Amino acid sequence: MASGHLRHLVAGNWKMNGLKASTDVLDAVIKGHDAVLAARADLMVCPPATLLAAFAARAGGSTVAVGAQDCHAAAAGAFTGDIAAEMIADAGGKAVIVGHSERRTLHGESDADVRAKAEAAWRAGLLPIVCVGETRAERDAGHALAIVARQIAGSLPDSLPGDLVVAYEPVWAIGTGLTPTTADVAEMHGAIRRQLVERYGGAGQAVRLLYGGSVKPSNAAELMAIADVNGALVGGASLVADDFLAIAKACGTS
Ligand code: PEP
Repeated sequence: MASGHLRHLVAGNWKMNGLKASTDVLDAVIKGHDAVLAARADLMVCPPATLLAAFAARAGGSTVAVGAQDCHAAAAGAFTGDIAAEMIADAGGKAVIVGHSERRTLHGESDADVRAKAEAAWRAGLLPIVCVGETRAERDAGHALAIVARQIAGSLPDSLPGDLVVAYEPVWAIGTGLTPTTADVAEMHGAIRRQLVERYGGAGQAVRLLYGGSVKPSNAAELMAIADVNGALVGGASLVADDFLAIAKACGTS
């Protein structure tokens, strides 16, 4: 059930990296996303919250979108240190990553929390990028498909109020240099696609499914060519403009 018609999206998750001086990297990404590359893939940069407004202003009028890495489910209130989806939109952000494994693990976020954040994103007019993925132990035990299916079921609402991106990121592949086999990625993305279509009908076909976890220029072409892989969520390699652009260039080449 491949959705080969979907444009690839390559989104960079900068995590807790980047200072004002890192605007140079954004500038290089904007410059590199020329008409040829823009025809091949959409690009998004998700800097830390401190850089969000400046990056959004800088990228305004360009083909590069700017997103955030997390949001609170509430629109406002006594939540010290948190950021509402409405604030991200107000700062010029167009999207927000929710349910990244580092949030799920280090901040104890449940599927229900992730779902509430995705709903907050839609409420604010943002595109949610909902992350799912199994641990190494879960894959070794043969439970990867079941774990991800459960995360999808719990992290998404019963009907889709807007556009959605899902990122499959095996926890054991994030920042490790390890990647699943192409067969394992194909199996997982096919299963996610079937689950989304069962749940949402035709709207499930329009959801872009990103692969994330140690994507780099050397493995991007192979990963991006897999059926139902509609782009990449990139951590470490997104901090280097040439590497990030090289990953985008690998989309649609095979
Ligand atoms: C991520 O954290 O979303 C990620 C994919 O990281 P990396 O590319 O560094 O593995």
